[in-house]
Amino acid sequence: MPQNLVLEGGPPWGFRLTGGADHSQPISISRVTPGTKASLANLYPGDVILAIGGVATEVMTLEEAQQVITSCTDQLCLKIQRPLTTLWSPQMEPFSLNLQTAQQQDLGHFEHKFNVRPRPFGAPAYVVTTETIDDNNNSVSRPATRSVVAPVTKPQPPVAHLQKLPLCDLCGKGIIGAVVRAGEKWRHPGCFRCVVCGQELKHQGYYLIEGQLYCQQHAADAVAMQARGE
Ligand code: GLU
Repeated sequence: MPQNLVLEGGPPWGFRLTGGADHSQPISISRVTPGTKASLANLYPGDVILAIGGVATEVMTLEEAQQVITSCTDQLCLKIQRPLTTLWSPQMEPFSLNLQTAQQQDLGHFEHKFNVRPRPFGAPAYVVTTETIDDNNNSVSRPATRSVVAPVTKPQPPVAHLQKLPLCDLCGKGIIGAVVRAGEKWRHPGCFRCVVCGQELKHQGYYLIEGQLYCQQHAADAVAMQARGE
């Protein structure tokens, strides 16, 4: 079912378009930058744009669509069609750690190789490095993040998906809409939380320890507890 989204406040909106009549593809969203107006308005990669500012996009080229967007200075009204299942890839990749295996190893070797000895907060126990791409296609390097996997959208035929809805590993319910995958598990974005404090991990790094998701702080606590044999 089409939805109307309203982005407020003027550009940059924080998304990137793809497709267009010149490519014989519907105009759709290829990327949404976390924390931007597009992200706050719940625009997702894979969303098909049916109209921009009330103007149908059916025969627009990509450039024409971008021109219409540029003419929307304060407010951007998008009519979108969302595929039933959208695979949303987190910004940061998980750091998986099998503690049982790790503890059987020589500690010096372990620390050197995996850098998992708990450290004071402020100096992260787990460090990942990252590169992201901004809306102008520029490469932006940031500390403590890691290369972004481009969101992949898998439009499903309307009937086939009903038998194949992924089940949320936390709440056990079928997932319609955005899906988050952590390792082999699937979750609703709202169920993608730290098992200790419940903090949403969608736009943050997450730590997968013995099948549980943690925020950075509680991952460090979990490792420290394991190291103390608790
Ligand atoms: N990238 C633009 C922005 O975030 C909108 C989409 C486009 O022009 O491709 O403001």
